Amino acid sequence: MPLQHNAVLKVLRNPRYAGAFCFGRTHTIKHPDGSLHIQTRPQEQWLFLVQEVHAGYLSWQEYEANLAQLRANRQAHGEDRRHGPPREGPALLQGLVICGRCGNRMTVRYHDVKGGKRLYPEYMCQKEMIEHAEEKVCQRILGAGPDAAIAELLLAQLTPLAIDTSMHVYEELHTQAEAARHLRAQQVERARYAAELAQRRFLRVDPENRLVADVLEADWNARLRELACVQEEAEQQNEVEQRKLSALEQQAIADLVDDFPRVWKDARTSDRDRKRMVRLLLSDVTVLKQEEVIAVHVRFKGGAQQTITVPVGRGRRSTPELIALIDQLLDDYTDAEVAEQLNQRGWRTYEGKPFSAARVLSLRRYQQLKAHGTRLAERGLLSAEEAASAYGVCRETLMAWGRAGLLPMYRINDQGTAVFPPPDEHAPVKHAHKYQTTRSSCGRSAVCN
Ligand SMILES: [Zn+2]
Repeated sequence: MPLQHNAVLKVLRNPRYAGAFCFGRTHTIKHPDGSLHIQTRPQEQWLFLVQEVHAGYLSWQEYEANLAQLRANRQAHGEDRRHGPPREGPALLQGLVICGRCGNRMTVRYHDVKGGKRLYPEYMCQKEMIEHAEEKVCQRILGAGPDAAIAELLLAQLTPLAIDTSMHVYEELHTQAEAARHLRAQQVERARYAAELAQRRFLRVDPENRLVADVLEADWNARLRELACVQEEAEQQNEVEQRKLSALEQQAIADLVDDFPRVWKDARTSDRDRKRMVRLLLSDVTVLKQEEVIAVHVRFKGGAQQTITVPVGRGRRSTPELIALIDQLLDDYTDAEVAEQLNQRGWRTYEGKPFSAARVLSLRRYQQLKAHGTRLAERGLLSAEEAASAYGVCRETLMAWGRAGLLPMYRINDQGTAVFPPPDEHAPVKHAHKYQTTRSSCGRSAVCN
């Protein structure tokens, strides 16, 4: 039989293997419905702990070091975080992701970039690995793509969703109020029981025993007054709560519908709050990585379901195809234009965001790709200064030719810097633009005479 995760934990946690005798490590609680619940107690609450009673497999120090390691691991890697509160860190779907291959809940791991200034989440299914000591991780998916897609989905679907969510909020508030009402009813019930008990005691006493009868009668009266008091207070509280509830409900709906997109997009909204909002809206998200895409099956709290597909995250390093494409596009386009081309062709950054000129710039520098301008210069195109002297005109005339379409003009960057072809037999001559363009457009450029 293979060694199970659970068995190893049991051995590591049991002080008996470290030669100690102990008693009271667990505490059994009996619930009113008759079920038993066994609770493990922290070491300081054990009834007995006697060290070095018999020869152990390991020393007490080793035992304690193992426990400390287990605690540290638990914090670092997380167990099933289903019931945990939303934590810091940008993984939007933390605690909600289910592995589409094996059905286990996936945990989050962060990759930090730039010394922890930016964290990139990765969802991992490692339950099999932990429990059965299997070598490989069942599934790992970079979080940026699914996170961005879910955020988009929530924003797009807000209206029908908001109704479902509001219903959920309704239910939650009702459940809470119901629990409070139940508690108050129990208090009334206990007061009633105490009053009845006092009454029975009084009725049972021998009337000859005046002193005892007087005391018991006073007690009975006190219990009756208490009952009336508790009863009245419970009724008042119920009424107050009912009024508060209906006001709250209306507010909750209004808030959600109005505020969701605004709050979501607000830079001041913390990751933790965004996660809270997601948890209010979604039951769980099942992910299954296929060859090119990740199938993301979303279950909303209201019962609605939807499947979306997200391109497989490419990791921090961009794929060779992407780099080759950027290299090719840079022949004809500036950084901003390359970004636009990539976006049009459906490429996204590894964070799942559209490309920007700045991202193209940093990628091209990192990959040591030549800038669009350098490529044009290598093809023999001339800067404005070079071209002006080659054509024997001033810079302004050259620009005017370019604007008038008499001379091809190529932009080398997003700031509008232009380059020109060297002169050939089709080169325009001085003043050419004056005869080809309207008076207004050449008025300013009539500089060379
Ligand atoms: Zn799995």
